[in-house]
Amino acid sequence: MDNEGSLNTVQNLDCQAVWNNCLDYIRPKVPTQTFDTWFRPIKAISLTDDELFLQVPNKFFYDWIDSHYKEILHRTLRELTGSGLLIKYTVLLAEDTEEKRDSVTSSLNEPSLTNEVIVKTGMLEKGTRINEGYIFDNFVVGSCNQFAKAAAVAVANAPGKTSFNPLVIYGGTGLGKTHLLQAIGNEALSTGRAMKVTYVSSDTFTLDFIAAIQKNKTTDFSRYYRSFDMLLLDDIQFFQGKEQTQEQFFHIFNDLYQRHRQIVLTTDRQPMELRGLQERLLSRFQSALTVDIQPPDLETRIAILQQKAMHDGLDIPYEIIEYLATNIRSNIRELEGAMIRLLAYSSLLQVDIDLGLAQKVLREFLGSGHASLISIESIQGVVSGSYKVNLDQMIGKIRTKEVAEARMVAMYFAREYTNLSLKTIGLYFGGRDHSTVVHACKWVESKVAEEPQFSQRFSFMKNKIESTI
Ligand code: ADP
Ligand code: MG
Repeated sequence: MDNEGSLNTVQNLDCQAVWNNCLDYIRPKVPTQTFDTWFRPIKAISLTDDELFLQVPNKFFYDWIDSHYKEILHRTLRELTGSGLLIKYTVLLAEDTEEKRDSVTSSLNEPSLTNEVIVKTGMLEKGTRINEGYIFDNFVVGSCNQFAKAAAVAVANAPGKTSFNPLVIYGGTGLGKTHLLQAIGNEALSTGRAMKVTYVSSDTFTLDFIAAIQKNKTTDFSRYYRSFDMLLLDDIQFFQGKEQTQEQFFHIFNDLYQRHRQIVLTTDRQPMELRGLQERLLSRFQSALTVDIQPPDLETRIAILQQKAMHDGLDIPYEIIEYLATNIRSNIRELEGAMIRLLAYSSLLQVDIDLGLAQKVLREFLGSGHASLISIESIQGVVSGSYKVNLDQMIGKIRTKEVAEARMVAMYFAREYTNLSLKTIGLYFGGRDHSTVVHACKWVESKVAEEPQFSQRFSFMKNKIESTI
């Protein structure tokens, strides 16, 4: 036997080689479609003495692997390396915090139920925070986004040197803002046009800032962000109501801007409509080039699904792609979600993907609240109309009875009618904590049960919200 073949030399092997060996070993043991759906899209990222780091496309994907193929992965790795390697997964938490990465660890050494712990390793929070999967090449262009893409490419090719500084990209959820933002970073890094690039979501920025205050390290915080050639800041609508964070950002912004460093921002609405943002910040954004991304038309939706299928090596009949693209119109993330679900079904039931299966999956998908047809803005609109409380008050700090009640009711409906996480809902209400949302929902439930008058008003708003579908 080859002495070098196991444990001790694992670290010397190229991680890609180890992973390719794994794939070769697994391929004959599972149905082809299962292999193509669940193993081929996994990317090996790094290998150390005791860890193999794998990247999977999304959280659903991770859950699926975890519940179906954990054993085979563990067995294969042990067989091939002879060691108790720890497998770590990087997952994109698409639904929750807009692409903030989390890591999920599963250990080979403790094959019990306790071996799956979700840990934030923090390792991906440092450095560039760029996701290499989001590039210009796999961003499908249609009339809905072509201007935004052109601006993004221009900025990536000449960071800080075009008049597009800052560049602001705005558009509804799931339409590709984060993809484009990250693609700018990847392009600038790959061509060496910007050496230091960072991507950060606004809530991570806020959390980092709060941590810096607690540790008395705001100077370090500021110095850190000022050190980049390119700052990519996602979802600035979540800055609303956060005065201190805005203040801090304002100074970082000015400093970068004056030194011709590139700044790119995204938001889910026009800068002009951003409430709860300081005037001076708004005026900075207004002088920016603002480009929007509109919902994609049918052809673009089809092209996106085709591209995704090709990228993942999936063989999905055209009629199925067209069927999904025709029926899911709201956003691209949900379109992708429906496709993954379809693959999951076919893999689990070991049946071919046909129109019947697609219809079944789509019915469930639409019924499960995944495809959120009701926006949080329309909910806030209905509730604010019923209470005569305006939106600024609803997301602001006032706690009079009327305002507090309207806020809690709107939070409740947001939980019921959108697929946003509690955390994200909190962010939409002036950056409140997820526990505040939980409390609001409980409060509304008991009030509906106990007070007929409240219950009546509640039903009225509910009907109104449902009629917006
Ligand atoms: P947003 O940040 O606007 O909410 P994302 O950038 O997260 O949306 O996009 C949601 C998903 O849709 C991502 O998986 C992204 O890769 C995909 N996507 C969005 N636009 C496109 C596009 N034009 N071409 C290919 N994929 C896209
Ligand atoms: Mg996003």
